[in-house]
Amino acid sequence: MCIITTRDGTRYDTPLFLPVFEYGNPYITIEQLKHDFDVRALMTNAYFLYKKRELKRSVMDRGIKAFLGFDGLVVTDSGAFQQFSGPLYLSNKKIIRFQQEIGVDVISPLDIITTPGEKRTTATKKLEATLKRIREGMALADRAVLIGVQQGGRFPDLRARALERLMEIGVKYVALGSLVPFFNRNHDIGFIGAVISQAREIIPRDIPIHLYGGGDPLELPFYIFMGCDIFDSSSFIHYARGRWYMTPYGAFDIRKESAIVPYTCECPYCTADWETVRKNEKMLALHNLWTIQKVIRDVAIRIREDTLPDYLAHVAHLHQKWFPDSRLMASWDMLSKEHTW
Ligand SMILES: [Zn+2]
Repeated sequence: MCIITTRDGTRYDTPLFLPVFEYGNPYITIEQLKHDFDVRALMTNAYFLYKKRELKRSVMDRGIKAFLGFDGLVVTDSGAFQQFSGPLYLSNKKIIRFQQEIGVDVISPLDIITTPGEKRTTATKKLEATLKRIREGMALADRAVLIGVQQGGRFPDLRARALERLMEIGVKYVALGSLVPFFNRNHDIGFIGAVISQAREIIPRDIPIHLYGGGDPLELPFYIFMGCDIFDSSSFIHYARGRWYMTPYGAFDIRKESAIVPYTCECPYCTADWETVRKNEKMLALHNLWTIQKVIRDVAIRIREDTLPDYLAHVAHLHQKWFPDSRLMASWDMLSKEHTW
């Protein structure tokens, strides 16, 4: 796996999961992230800090790391996703400068998201406009690593073209954009897997690949095996809100008291009081985050021992037994026929 090197020379090993931390959220504190989860890297949304006047002033005065009370790797996104909720009154230059001024390590341009249904001409326009913004950003980002975001919608040849152009521009960190709508309840990993596999063929191994929004501990090991290094998500909170109990083999709906979970979790929350985890959203979010972190740690060990394929076979088998309608095994088999990693 590759290493992320920040502009001050600090190095972070991958695979890496960045929990999304929004300042003031009611689910988890920075102290918990640092001490209970040993988190060394996180993702936060720069646009939320930028648009709230009080927060913006404070974070500009103190810098993001002092503001959050966190001195590990800080990656930010730019508000690109919030463009769907309305106009941002924000320029690419402004949000890049802001991220850099507050001392973020890895920053995002204001890329233009493509929805899965969009036509080729629209996807091409958005791809070109995003590349232009990244080129503009490369000239500005001299104290942070700028993410080269791939666009191209559902068109593999456009996505390949985007990566080739990003390599020409000289980006040192790539993120795969506009894939969130392709995450699905039945775990069909076909499209995302194909995008990752193609990306790994184009991008040299020393440049990390980040999948925006990836946060299901069932699917992450497969994406890592195919060549993806970094993920960020608030899935541990979203799943907890919907009363979903994550396991490495799939998430269980525990809204019903009678729900059976055929898995014994070793996390400190479940070990101490499983009934509370079941009923309490915050505790469930902590369990979920613990599960994601454990899977990432286990996968890192298996990469070193060269036993990740055995783990994937075991996960696919048990998952399919517990969730017979899932598309995981079928889509994984298909990918395995079409690619070699
Ligand atoms: Zn647990």
